[in-house]
Amino acid sequence: MPKKRILIVEDDVDILRLLTLELQDAGYEVLPYESGMRGLSAIREAEPDLVVLDLGLPDLSGQEIARRIRRTGDTPIVILTAADELGTKVEMLNAGVDDYLAKPFHVEELVARINVQLRKRSLGATRKVGDMTIDPVRRQVFWGEDEVRLSPREYDLLAYLASQPGRVYSRKEIESNVWGENLPPSSNVVDVHIANIRGKLRDAGGYGVIRTVRGIGYALKS
Ligand code: CA
Repeated sequence: MPKKRILIVEDDVDILRLLTLELQDAGYEVLPYESGMRGLSAIREAEPDLVVLDLGLPDLSGQEIARRIRRTGDTPIVILTAADELGTKVEMLNAGVDDYLAKPFHVEELVARINVQLRKRSLGATRKVGDMTIDPVRRQVFWGEDEVRLSPREYDLLAYLASQPGRVYSRKEIESNVWGENLPPSSNVVDVHIANIRGKLRDAGGYGVIRTVRGIGYALKS
């Protein structure tokens, strides 16, 4: 199994070095960054399995980075805060942070928290995209409070688009990941399924959830 990749942004070089060594020791691949801006662009490129953010960074705060990550994805985020920054707890949770740890902390505790978050994800935690909630364990989709009843294939297709909201998936990608094969070029089965999902979402009050990108494929509105 490939190593899980953890990206850390922490401007305190000593802490950054310590965390890097300890997390490597715990079996993770670590991408350490001192700068918020650089860390943020690396997050987009490297697609880490989890991100550890120091809250107080000189250029871009950990909270702002968390908010930007949440605009396009649901990578687990653990925030490190100084004790006097605890007042921002609610704001952090609102920014979509999964967990936080106040400094000073034991590295073992951070490793334990990281393990918990990654385990949750591998079980398939319920996730929200806008007003839509997807529960991969029960394979259910809700719009607000209302369940959107989908066929198994419709569920797989919607969950696949939701794996990266905003990203455009080509028909070929959808076919090979949802149907497990490339369908004949004349087949409109993907479009038919999309139309059915749209209809069911609309019935529940969800309009414009799936975007058609002409000549390419489909994307979930992020
Ligand atoms: Ca700091």
